[in-house]
Amino acid sequence: MEYMREALKLAAEAAEAGEVPVGCVIVHGGEIVGRGRNRREAAQRTDAHAELEAIAQANAVLGTWRLDECDLYVTLEPCPMCAGAILNGRVRRVYFGARDRAMGACGGVLNLFMEDFPNKTALQGGIMEEECRDMLSAFFSNLRAAENSRSVHDTGGDIRYDSGVPDGTDTRKE
Ligand SMILES: [Zn+2]
Repeated sequence: MEYMREALKLAAEAAEAGEVPVGCVIVHGGEIVGRGRNRREAAQRTDAHAELEAIAQANAVLGTWRLDECDLYVTLEPCPMCAGAILNGRVRRVYFGARDRAMGACGGVLNLFMEDFPNKTALQGGIMEEECRDMLSAFFSNLRAAENSRSVHDTGGDIRYDSGVPDGTDTRKE
């Protein structure tokens, strides 16, 4: 909870910056060694996801690519790209908040952690799920409100996010 709360703070920071709110922390021996948040719009980089930023920071802090004593907390279910980095880094455990039915690689669309890779990362979803989902929902409803109030001639500053994240209608079990 404590660490997911930290991840949520980073997600809130992303939202304030106009980014889809996703935040991530990496914990080693009870210390946060990596923090990341979504910076896709500002960076205009496909890979500017919260998890990858947190992993890069943890690598730098610990001086190793091996994260087998690390646990990762992220507010939204990791996508295949980030799940790949998590597996490559041999992260010990992943805790995520909201489910991502569009891009999730931890069961939302597919589950890379069930595959026969040499490294086994433990997975737990639904951590502070409501808070994580609410932050995403609020972001997207603000975005829609802003779009609706904009003049039809104004085509600038359009932010699109294809992941169609939480609509609150998901009743599938973990
Ligand atoms: Zn990702």
